[in-house]
Amino acid sequence: MGIEPLMVASTLNVVLAQRLGRRLCSNCKTDLAKDEYPDKAQLLHMGFKPEDLEGLNLKKAVGCSLCSNGYKGRFALVECLEMNDRLRKIIIGGGTDIEIRKVALETGMISLRRAGLLNVMRGITTLEEVVRNTVGDETEKPEKLTKKSESEAEAEEPETAAP
Ligand SMILES: [Zn+2]
Repeated sequence: MGIEPLMVASTLNVVLAQRLGRRLCSNCKTDLAKDEYPDKAQLLHMGFKPEDLEGLNLKKAVGCSLCSNGYKGRFALVECLEMNDRLRKIIIGGGTDIEIRKVALETGMISLRRAGLLNVMRGITTLEEVVRNTVGDETEKPEKLTKKSESEAEAEEPETAAP
């Protein structure tokens, strides 16, 4: 964007990103059958932590007369990056967006993906909805949940770039 890295590092305090996800209808949502769960490696790759998997209870969208395809209303996913010394250092050093994101995650940033997974664990929405709406924190390869969510993810608008 043509802004000096030093300027960004010294004046920026917080960066917020927000996205809306569809909320499961509380009237018809149901537990996802355990044999429909992605396997452990997939779940970890999607951003779950090993300790999240113990007692993980995934929900499924069904659909009823009160909702649209099992979803009713929306909820906000918020990612908050707070400036810190490690980030300043890497920005001033001309770090790439991938390097900056890595350090941000290491220093406690809750990513959009992670915020989504927390809502999945609370039964607010489905895993499909979060995978469809957010980018994984690991940058190498996109996860494959189902054929459907994969093609939908491709049609998705490009991720808004960090400034
Ligand atoms: Zn419903």
